[in-house]
Amino acid sequence: MHHLLTARARGIDASGIRRVFDLAAKMTDPIDLSIGQPDFEVPDAVRHAAVGAMEAGQNRYTPTQGTAPLREALTRATTTEFPSTGEGAALREDLGLLVTSGVSGGLTLAFLACLGPGDEVVFSDPAFVMYRHLATLAGAASVACDTYPDFRLTADRVEPLLTERTKIVVVNSPGNPTGVCNTAAELADLATLCARRGVLLITDEIYDAFTYADGDGQPAAPGGFVSPLSDPAVDPAGVLLLRGFSKTYGMTGWRLGHAVGPKPVVEAMTKLQQYTFVCAPSPAQAAGVAALRADVSAHVGAYARKRDRVVERLSPRFRLAAPGGAFYAFPEVPKHLGLTGTRFVEAAIERNVLVIPGSVFSARDTHFRLSYACGEATLERGLDVLCELAEG
Ligand code: PMP
Repeated sequence: MHHLLTARARGIDASGIRRVFDLAAKMTDPIDLSIGQPDFEVPDAVRHAAVGAMEAGQNRYTPTQGTAPLREALTRATTTEFPSTGEGAALREDLGLLVTSGVSGGLTLAFLACLGPGDEVVFSDPAFVMYRHLATLAGAASVACDTYPDFRLTADRVEPLLTERTKIVVVNSPGNPTGVCNTAAELADLATLCARRGVLLITDEIYDAFTYADGDGQPAAPGGFVSPLSDPAVDPAGVLLLRGFSKTYGMTGWRLGHAVGPKPVVEAMTKLQQYTFVCAPSPAQAAGVAALRADVSAHVGAYARKRDRVVERLSPRFRLAAPGGAFYAFPEVPKHLGLTGTRFVEAAIERNVLVIPGSVFSARDTHFRLSYACGEATLERGLDVLCELAEG
């Protein structure tokens, strides 16, 4: 049946990550530092809200744009955090909001809405793998912005890559796979550059809840997270904000997120959702309203302390860009070892530690991603092995 497959499907090379999963499948009880999702359970109130919604019969299609209660709660949250987007339950006239099936759903719809053959999308190298594959799916070209060694996507780095074919720039702060956060000024400069060049800036803010103060292990004060929209001078009509419930509330399997941005783009995404995803899962939408009231600060605090441990243990032995958020770090394999990222990961796997080679996220094979979304004991055992490997 291979002859039936499109160039689009064949153009997606998933071999890098598959090799890692194949190796992992052979490990018994690995020290797993590869996980891209929280290790805490969905808050009780959120689970109860989902069960209650199912019991109450909220099991049918919802409006494609999302249920009225969730749309209202998300609109209020957006206008409170970013006053430039509107007031109370009213978004600015030229903006739209769509409830999506996770940030993945939002990215898929945005790429399909704005990108076609001949178009270009710019994002950092390294980056979350989905951007590249969705560009392929849309028939567009990915333009990698090399952000080594500090992993900051800045206007200075992006500007030389923009052409008349560029439609989208994607920024992801805090970032996967690096955990690196942009400053407010860097994000505002990116938004200003994109607005000047008529390019849509997509801001993938899936890790917005996971930003950490520097050094003291305390979570950043509320508002410590910064977005391109944090600067009131940035016009929200040039920015597509994507947010999700997956990481913040441990709801990765529930498939819920939302998009806020320029009305023509959000309307096109809504039309595409109607004939693809149809709607985000109905019980998850009911639970989403409860989730917005849930307090996850204890979990964020625990991750902040783990982030500090990772930096404390690894930075004397590995070159490491300060991870200010998410639950990842992206150390460079020490040059004296003479190993690629992949070879280093194979050596780690031989010692029963699972991490992901940088080449899964990047054209370079010099780094590896570790996730600290795991128990403290697992993390310490994993760090012990990585430090021993760094000694050679
Ligand atoms: N963006 C980034 C940067 C991610 O790391 C992930 C999940 N790994 C997603 C988007 C997708 O998240 P979801 O679809 O579960 O909301």
